[in-house]
Amino acid sequence: MRVFRSGKKNRRMARGCRGKRYSYPFVDAFIGRSYPAASPLRSCRRYSRCVSWNGEGIRRAMAALVIRNARRINPDDGTDERGDLYIIDGRIAEGSEISPSEAAVFDADGRIVVPALIDLHVHLREPGNEAAETTATGLRAARMAGFGVVVAMPNTIPPIDTPEHVRAALRRAAAVEDGAILLQSACLTRSREGRAVADLEALAAAGASAFTDDGSTPPEDVIMREAMDRAAALGLPILDHAQDPTLERRGVMHEGRCSQRRGVPGIPAAAEIRIIERDIRLARETGARVHIQHVSTAEGVACIRAARAEGLPVSGETTPHHLTWIDEDVRLENPNFKVNPPLRSRADREALIQGVLEGTLSCLATDHAPHTIEAKARGFEKAPPGMVGLETAIGVTWTRLVIEYGMPPIEWLRRWTTGPAAVLGLPPPSLRPGVPADLVLLDVTTPWTVRADWFLSKSRNTPFMGHKLWGRAVAVWKKGRQVREVPWAS
Ligand SMILES: [Zn+2]
Repeated sequence: MRVFRSGKKNRRMARGCRGKRYSYPFVDAFIGRSYPAASPLRSCRRYSRCVSWNGEGIRRAMAALVIRNARRINPDDGTDERGDLYIIDGRIAEGSEISPSEAAVFDADGRIVVPALIDLHVHLREPGNEAAETTATGLRAARMAGFGVVVAMPNTIPPIDTPEHVRAALRRAAAVEDGAILLQSACLTRSREGRAVADLEALAAAGASAFTDDGSTPPEDVIMREAMDRAAALGLPILDHAQDPTLERRGVMHEGRCSQRRGVPGIPAAAEIRIIERDIRLARETGARVHIQHVSTAEGVACIRAARAEGLPVSGETTPHHLTWIDEDVRLENPNFKVNPPLRSRADREALIQGVLEGTLSCLATDHAPHTIEAKARGFEKAPPGMVGLETAIGVTWTRLVIEYGMPPIEWLRRWTTGPAAVLGLPPPSLRPGVPADLVLLDVTTPWTVRADWFLSKSRNTPFMGHKLWGRAVAVWKKGRQVREVPWAS
């Protein structure tokens, strides 16, 4: 084996690539983690020889993979084309960079390869309710379901409202092997009580990615306004659970004919609309980036449409379950239908679908809300709201939007990638050379039935159990390495 030493002969060999001279630091940079996308080695025909100079060390670092026969959909530039995808050392590469004899090959068999998805809205339940979910189970479930990044909500017990809590959450996530990357949101107000704005500056310094009191919203305008002012100065978004607590009362489903017929208290649509209107007004005054979580009403969509037309930095998400069910579907004997905000009217659902199709709602998000069997067994009125959503997210939204409503796959993908990335201020997920190879292989042609034993989340509270869906992740790669077999792929 040749050993790389400084010396005339080796310098000559390093110059040998199309006659250009490459310095040794360049080779070091190339084998390191962050070689530049526009690396001159792209055009180096003697690349495999270059590799052998440094023996085993370089060989290990230069792990190469070709994903063949793929339908590559790139939400960043809008391309949707057939071809191969090349990965070197954990990053997407140009085909000319790869020495075919050294690369591992994965046959995509015509299936879709996309950048890993982003979920803006996940409850990991740690600390405080580890029986329902933990950081490890939630992040692994997310990765296997096709998500590369998730934003965890801070309404844990205790809530994540101090820098120490933010740091602890990020430490827990860093210890999870094969998980999605955690972005931790922190509370808007101290103890999530809505009375005094939390130390947003310290929370941001500790690594918080966004601010939210998810589960509720600060009821007083003056508190939200101060929070927006300070978040705007920090350049971080506010994610708001838009629901007026004075109108929400003890409601357990959408207020309307269905709730009256069933004799249970309802949550009126006005509870959401009033807070969305307030948040838009305050975004206009403060310049803060405001993202409305789990939009559930037609009028909410209309407010966001008007705000965006005005050029305000306002965005919105909706969930797979709000795109699927309405209040008429709610069965009081099945508390898995209890969610917050509630499943609304037929007209609301149609407006949400239109909002996603046209891009007024630029994001889809799961609101993954795990609960134990015991917690959901307390009966509809007493059970906590929420359903698990990671494992079914791709299937439900692909089936509903792409198959039933004819949404172009690229647009569907953007609601799960570039839309959320823009909210968070992240670079757009992409298949461009140089970008870390966090990828997902999607099978959208084989129907599958939702089964409890395929869930990696700790909880199973979903009314989608037994549903037939199209679309799911069948292989996932994290930094170019295939994460262990997806349980439902075989
Ligand atoms: Zn919420």
